[in-house]
Amino acid sequence: MDCLFCKIIEGKLPSAKIYENEHVVAFLDINPVHPGHTLVVPKHHSTSLFDMPDDDIAAVFHAAKKVAQAVKEATSAGGINVNMNNDKAAGQVVFHSHIHLIPRFENDGLKLWPGRKYSEGQQAEIQKRIVGC
Ligand code: 5GP
Ligand code: ZN
Repeated sequence: MDCLFCKIIEGKLPSAKIYENEHVVAFLDINPVHPGHTLVVPKHHSTSLFDMPDDDIAAVFHAAKKVAQAVKEATSAGGINVNMNNDKAAGQVVFHSHIHLIPRFENDGLKLWPGRKYSEGQQAEIQKRIVGC
């Protein structure tokens, strides 16, 4: 399997590693939103949240808490966004599960998603559909 993050995990490609345990590795994103932008990645290959074993989800978020604290302190960030892109339509470009830890600063000019109001009946309709799945 030709997976970029598997190669980084196996040490076949370089990375700026900042944390590692039995299940997880964390390294700096090569194109950071801000310096210190970190990826937390399970060592076991899965593609996205949808096929990620529960143990890896737990391990990644457990490590993320620890690493996010270090990133926040080291960058003097005011906050940290935790983000996961799942599938191409959501912006995923590397198909090995990972979460982003993005240091954020007051007035750094970045915007989160634009929110839009529901139309009449739309909220109840989507609620019913999701609950039914
Ligand atoms: P995605 O959109 O799949 O959630 O994000 C993948 C991330 O991986 C991007 O932010 C991108 O900058 C980062 N990335 C891509 N290739 C490399 C690489 O070779 N090394 C590192 N450290 N990060 C990478
Ligand atoms: Zn992989």
